[in-house]
Formats: sequence, structure tokens, C-alpha cells
Amino acid sequence: MLDAKDYESADIAIVTGSLRTEADERRLRRAREKSKCLLAFGSCACFGGMHGLADLEGVGGKGGPGFWLRDSVDPVWRAAKVDLAVPGCPPPEKKVKLLLENVLSPADEKQGRSVCDECGRKRSGERKIAKFRRGLKGVDEERCFLDQGVPCIGFATSSGCGALCPSVNYPCYGCMGFNGGVAEQDEGVARAISALASSLELENVEGGLADPVGFFMRFAYPCFSLKGGKGNGSGGR
Ligand code: SF4
Ligand code: SF4
Repeated sequence: MLDAKDYESADIAIVTGSLRTEADERRLRRAREKSKCLLAFGSCACFGGMHGLADLEGVGGKGGPGFWLRDSVDPVWRAAKVDLAVPGCPPPEKKVKLLLENVLSPADEKQGRSVCDECGRKRSGERKIAKFRRGLKGVDEERCFLDQGVPCIGFATSSGCGALCPSVNYPCYGCMGFNGGVAEQDEGVARAISALASSLELENVEGGLADPVGFFMRFAYPCFSLKGGKGNGSGGR
């Protein structure tokens, strides 16, 4: 997760990747001590990332000498104070430019805006989903995915990527995280579930989401306080 060369001090430490091994955590703590500013860069550092879904299977605490696994996969903020966070998988170019131009205050954040606000696909006024579909065969490339029953979590995902995936006919899978801080993803998922529920024709909806955890928490599962698996609760060590 960290290219931790020996150095006395640094203005900024850039951390990529999540905490998976005990060595990750030691390097992170060293970087934190020596750096004025710590930047969590990318969705794995900010939210724990996709491989955090491994905690569903409770795979923590294994490994061997030199590669001991922590009890759980965790985002960086669980073990060290984070000064700046730039999510994304990968982080959008626009955000990286802003960061480079003005390292200590990437102030273009418009809290509350979602990927839907940047998406050019046509949306229905009042969305009512009667059926979720799998795959993209036959999907209208100009209409909102969700209106067509294709799981797309752009409605709950922070803006900033320019709705990259929907613009190339692929649904958003949430790599920018929910609106709010990196440590507030719990609230984000609750809002997302409630928003989606209000769009469902509950009496008629056929089947359901094939993979609800993967839909709502693909990148941020390690952030959730209620996550399952053996490793939950190691945060904040
Ligand atoms: S739900 Fe997806 S496809 Fe629909 S407007 Fe939002 S980002 Fe675009
Ligand atoms: S559309 Fe969604 S998944 Fe794609 S880059 Fe943007 S936030 Fe990430």
C-alpha cells in the first residue's frame, strides 16, 4: 500500500491501497508520524476498496511470516488521521489536477451532487422500477439505466468523474463513494437504500437485485460498521 522509503520528514504522504497486512499498517503509521499532510488517494485508500468484500467470507487473520494479514481489510482512516481524500478508481483527472494545483484545499467539492447530476442520459420524471435486469443487451443507450431496471448507483455516488461510465454505456458502480466524508459511508448507504426503495414498485417488482452488497457497497464495504466477517471491529487500532 505504501512505498515507504526511509526519510526524515515529508510535507505530504500519498497513500494508495487499503490496509490488508500488518506491515501495511506499520508503514502507514510511520508515514503519518513523519508527514505534515496525509493524502488517501483512490477508492481503496479512502473506502477499503473492492477487495474488502473478502471480509464477507471472514478471511482475516491468516498469512505467514512477513505477510501477516490484519483481521479485516480497512480504509486508511481507520488507523491514521487523513487530511485529504481523493476517491475514484482511478481518481478522475480533474480531481488530480485540482489537487496538484492547490494541494492543501481541493475546494471544488460540491457536497450533495451526484453522478446523476453529471450524466447526460434521459431520466423519467418519476422513476418506478418494476424489474431489475441483468446484462446490457437491448439497453437504450440514451435513457437512464435505472429507469430501464439496470442497477446503476449514480444517484447515490459523489460527483466528480463526469459520469464516465454511463457516458460509455456502462452503469455507475460507485467508485467515488457516497456523498459525505470517507468516514461517513454508513449514512450514505442508508440514504441510498431508502432512495432506491422509494423508486421500486414493491408490489410488482420481480426478483430483486442479484447482488445487493456488491451494488451498494462494492468499494466501501470495509467502511461499514455493521459489516460481517471475522474481521469487523479492528478499526481504530
Ligand atoms: S442512475 Fe445512472 S444512468 Fe441514470 S441518470 Fe444516474 S448515473 Fe445516469
Ligand atoms: S461513473 Fe461511477 S463507477 Fe464510473 S468512474 Fe464515475 S463514480 Fe466511478
